[in-house]
Amino acid sequence: MIARLSNTSPFGISRTALACGFAALLLCATFAGCAISRPDKVALPARHSIRADQLLVVSDFKIAKEHPLLQDLILLRQKVSQQLELPLSSKPVMVYLFSNELEYNQYWQATYPGYPLRRAYFIQTPNKELAVYTSWSEKIQEDLRHEFTHGLLHASLETVPLWIDEGLAEYFEVKGQSPGQVNADYVRKLATMTQNGWRPDMARLERLEKVEQMQRTDYREAWAWTHFMLHDSPESRRVLLDYLKELRDNPHPDRLSDKLADAVGDPDGRLLHYVAALAAPPEHTAVRPVSATVP
Ligand SMILES: [Zn+2]
Repeated sequence: MIARLSNTSPFGISRTALACGFAALLLCATFAGCAISRPDKVALPARHSIRADQLLVVSDFKIAKEHPLLQDLILLRQKVSQQLELPLSSKPVMVYLFSNELEYNQYWQATYPGYPLRRAYFIQTPNKELAVYTSWSEKIQEDLRHEFTHGLLHASLETVPLWIDEGLAEYFEVKGQSPGQVNADYVRKLATMTQNGWRPDMARLERLEKVEQMQRTDYREAWAWTHFMLHDSPESRRVLLDYLKELRDNPHPDRLSDKLADAVGDPDGRLLHYVAALAAPPEHTAVRPVSATVP
């Protein structure tokens, strides 16, 4: 999910304003959230910091560099670079890791009043600092994988369209031996949605520019398109990788939906077939797409 923050108005900031440096880019991972009391603690974590490649974790509690969570992120950086053919950047991605949800929520409410509470956020400030904000929770691994992916993308690309940003973050948040693990919950829900008449529409996703416009179904569809493009065929994969390559220095490339239609023909129909194959039981997977491993 993505929003644009400005210094004067909390919502409705355009991509143009962002490009001009008047606003911060803000993305978030989940639809968690709850009402909390008036904030009384607003300080960022500061006592401990650990640096590993691009990753810079700041917390008020000690966490060893060898901790599996951090090692997973260090490995994720390599995987994202390999999978997306993105050059590794040295630009740091800050991770402000709060000890608990209450302190995180209090900081968020005091610092960004009017913005919804989420379990985690990624923010790119006008001076291009890349920062993740989250708290320790049972979902910490997927939250960090999701938000750190945003950081890695924004460290390497001139701009990242909203839905692709979220599609790739959703794609890489699913842990496993290799990128491209199937989000079974998304597949199940997409299959049900399809039975109820839903049809994919990448062009519609491309028109979304604000975080509040993206619904849960849009996250599922963004994940599905991303998974489809990376695993359905060499042609679909090439379309996405070439698009990302263009985004390194061109903030306004031609539409990805047009490029994909030119390359594979009837992408909507193929995506439906792809999701149906992922949703099929293992014994019915004669046409199951390559889904669990990186080509
Ligand atoms: Zn996100």
